[in-house]
Amino acid sequence: MSVLPILVYGDARLRQVAQPVVVDDKVRALAADMIETMYDAPGRGLAAPQVGVSLRMFVMDCHWKDGAGRDPLVVVNPVLSDPSEDVKPFTEGCLSIPGVLVEVTRPAQVTLRWENLDGEVFARRLCDFEAVCAQHEYDHLDGVLNTDYLSDAARAEVADRLAELAA
Ligand code: ZN
Repeated sequence: MSVLPILVYGDARLRQVAQPVVVDDKVRALAADMIETMYDAPGRGLAAPQVGVSLRMFVMDCHWKDGAGRDPLVVVNPVLSDPSEDVKPFTEGCLSIPGVLVEVTRPAQVTLRWENLDGEVFARRLCDFEAVCAQHEYDHLDGVLNTDYLSDAARAEVADRLAELAA
């Protein structure tokens, strides 16, 4: 396993729409590296496009930073559905946008369907931080960054930092 370099805001590869995954040994190795990279960063979620791989997969572990122990989830070919009408603002960080926190309002609950590395299919209703994390990571697979949700006023506040990252 190895820690991979994380692409930073401004890199065009963060804007690509990622491709469906066919799991093979290379993908399994990538998942292990992504988990190590997430913990090393340290972060609670990391999507494949953030390490320059245009595949629809991400890893997440929402609670390890709260002292819950490590319990990484590998999410392959995710589908989000049934967003709640109820929305919630949350201040999000992103490993690809260091030093910038963005308040994003997203559905408070959402259903995540995904495959694991053995092709088994799972579905889970997510709420709270897990819902935030899954939606944030899913966005990366479509080339969407949380800064895309900034209001003009909020964007003006972080414009200098974003320009610095993109330089
Ligand atoms: Zn991110």
